Parts: sequence; structure tokens; C-alpha cells
Amino acid sequence: MAGAERIVFLGPPNSGKGTQAVLLAQALGIPAISTGDMLRAAVTAGSPLGRRVEGVMNRGELVSDDLMAEVVKDRLAQNDAVGGFLLDGYPRTLPQVATLDGILADAGNELTHVVMLDAPESVLVERALLRGRKDDTEEVVRIRLDEYRNKTKPLVDHYRSLGLLREVDGNRPIETVEVAILESVGHA
Ligand code: AMP
Repeated sequence: MAGAERIVFLGPPNSGKGTQAVLLAQALGIPAISTGDMLRAAVTAGSPLGRRVEGVMNRGELVSDDLMAEVVKDRLAQNDAVGGFLLDGYPRTLPQVATLDGILADAGNELTHVVMLDAPESVLVERALLRGRKDDTEEVVRIRLDEYRNKTKPLVDHYRSLGLLREVDGNRPIETVEVAILESVGHA
């Protein structure tokens, strides 16, 4: 669809990514697709997918690229994603970048922006411990940050080199960040 926005949201855990993803998607009239929310719903429902990912998620590790490829392919094939989408939490590894590229290419589409929301690590850890999920231990919080640093951070350079990266400082009030993100994707 002409003019459709296909946006990826990148950022460490507790950068405020989930909140901002929903706000931006609402502003642009596109679905916010959070793979973390989808997986948590599967766990709650006790579905076969949920049973496969529950242990990995509880440890703060990443679900396998192959399994995530199935989840994302199915989701992006749904009607509401045809006119654009905002992906929150996918891709998270370089192989996932290749998978997403393949899905988009098959449909004759490309990403329009990659928004990178960041904050200093001390702020991320403080937020995690303040408002973390009830079963989050410091150990799980640390593993999530390690997974981000080792596997997801390389995506920043990749998307920067493609000219798609829009970096936004997430260490500010929600409304300020919201406006900055809208500006970064040319919708201020
Ligand atoms: P999130 O809410 O985005 O932080 O995701 C919660 C958890 O779901 C992560 O810690 C991972 O275990 C899993 N998860 C979500 N998205 C992905 C992904 N793209 N690749 C691998 N694991 C994922």
C-alpha cells in the first residue's frame, strides 16, 4: 500500500519501548505487534507454542530464531498488517533481520523506519527493579540485558548503515519521548 509505514522498534528492556510503540502505532493507524505480548498470551493460554517458550522466557533468554520466524510470518500475513505495521520486539537477532527482510521482499515491501529508543544502563536496571514483572529476579533482569547487548545491539549498526535508524533518547518524560518519536518518523 502506498505511504504505508512499516516500522521496527528497537531498544533495551525497560527503555519504554512497549509504551511508545503503542502510542506511535495509534497515531499512525497501524497495528502494534509485540512479539513479547504474543508469546506471553500463548503462555497464559497454555497453547503448544506457550509450552515451548515458557522456560526460555522465564530465564530471560531469547526464543529460537526458527520458532520466532513462524510466529512473525503468521502474524504479518494477517489482514490488519497489510497496510503497514509497527513491530515491537522483532527482529532481535541478525538471523531475524534476514527473516524479516525475506517476508517483506516476498510481499514487495520494505521497512520505512527503525526507531531506536535508548536510556543509560543504570536507568534501565532501576526501572526493571522498580516496576518489573513479579517473578523478575536481578539475575533474570541481567540476563535480558546481556541478551540485548550481545544479540540485539548489532542490529543498530546494521539499520544505521541502511539509513533507516531514528535514534531517540528514552530517558525523558513519556510525552516528550512520544513527540520526539513522531518527529523522527516525519509525523510531527
Ligand atoms: P519482550 O516483552 O519484548 O521483552 O519479550 C519478552 C520475552 O519474549 C523475551 O525476553 C524473549 O524471551 C521472548 N521474545 C520476544 N520477542 C522475541 C524475539 N524476537 N526473539 C526471541 N525471543 C523473543
